[in-house]
This record gives sequence, C-alpha cells and structure tokens, in this order.
Amino acid sequence: MSMFDGDTPQEKRHRNARTEASAAVWRIVQDDARNHGADPATWTEKRIIPGFTWGENTPLPEHQFAAARALTKAARLQEYEAIRHARGRGTSWEQIAGWLGTDFTEAADNAGRSLRVATWMYALAGTWPGEDFPYDRWVYEPRLDWPCYTCGARIHERLPENGVKLDQPEHTADCARHAADRAAEQDRWDELDDADDLPTNPIPDVARPPFAPALRLATPTTEEPTP
Ligand SMILES: [Zn+2]
Repeated sequence: MSMFDGDTPQEKRHRNARTEASAAVWRIVQDDARNHGADPATWTEKRIIPGFTWGENTPLPEHQFAAARALTKAARLQEYEAIRHARGRGTSWEQIAGWLGTDFTEAADNAGRSLRVATWMYALAGTWPGEDFPYDRWVYEPRLDWPCYTCGARIHERLPENGVKLDQPEHTADCARHAADRAAEQDRWDELDDADDLPTNPIPDVARPPFAPALRLATPTTEEPTP
C-alpha cells in the first residue's frame, strides 16, 4: 500500500502538479543552457548535505528561480484561458468562483464584494477579494474578452455589475444565451423588488466620470500577474 493511497483527489492533483513543475523547471533550465551554448553541468550543482555521502544534482538557484517564475506566469495564463473558455460556453461567474474554493467566497464576503465582480477581477488581474485591483476602471475600462459560443460574437465583458445588457452588449440580437441571461437577471431583480420593495432595477443610473479613450486590455500576458 502506497503512502499516498489515502490522498483526496485534490491532494493527488497538487502532488502531480509539484512533480510536473519540478520536471518542467529542470527541462527549462537545461534548454536555457543549450540555447546559450553552455554546458548544462555548469547550470547545476551537486548539492552535498554535510554528514551525508550522497548528493543530488539541482539547478543553480538563480536558474531554478527564473524557470519557476516563467512557469508561474504560464500557469496563471492557463487559468485566464480556462475562465475565458468557461465564460464563452455559458459558465456563470458564481460557478467559476466555486472553482476557487470556499476561501475565495469568504474573502469576497469579507470584502463586501459580489462573487461575480470578485471573480471577474480575479480573472483579469489574479487579485484576491480585498486586494487592490491594479487597474483604474475609469481610465482603462478593463474588459475580459471571450467569444460567445452561442452567437459567435466577441464579447468584451465589462465589470459585471450593471446587468448583462450593459456589461455584454456585443451579443447578437437573437443570441439565445443572452436572452436567457437577461430573463434570469430580470427574475432576480423582480424577486428583490418583491422582497425589499426596491426599484425594479436596483442599480441606479449613475453619472460616470468621463474617461480617456478606452485602452482595452488584450490579455494580461504582458503584465506581471499579481503573485
Ligand atoms: Zn451570444
């Protein structure tokens, strides 16, 4: 019986990820060495632990760090792409928030932020609820780009707080998904209306400050994701 037999699926996944990341760091370091015409042996060291007769080859710390940093960015990009794909096929922000776990939901509660807004911010910037969102929304009007798999339109999703009609205006007029989202949203607003005697649309029209011509965020790849 292996010592890992009692692992949960999540523990197994984390262990697999550590194994894969470790192997990937090695490959990147060796590839770096080859690309620089260097002897891979000079990029590694035999780490000798005092008192032990064995040692292990390991990348020199600066090379190990550089490879790990590149992997961190690449992994973050995978998250971003997964979220864009999920939005395209109709996965709700609340469902995506569920992937981030109960810690995320609690942090959103504590920050007084709706799950959809908190998760949209995480998608764009990798920020946890309560952390500073690094984009000035009035200056840059950050948007999450994804293709709607129902109507084929390219959506530039604004901060999801004003309703799907305003936040995702690019859907085609006959997009079934957009119609269903709007109907579900109207139901939620009607319920709020009944429950709390709020105005039909709980988000009042606010005068938005003028902002500079929107600089759309294509992808976060050129920016360092928040560690
Ligand atoms: Zn659509």
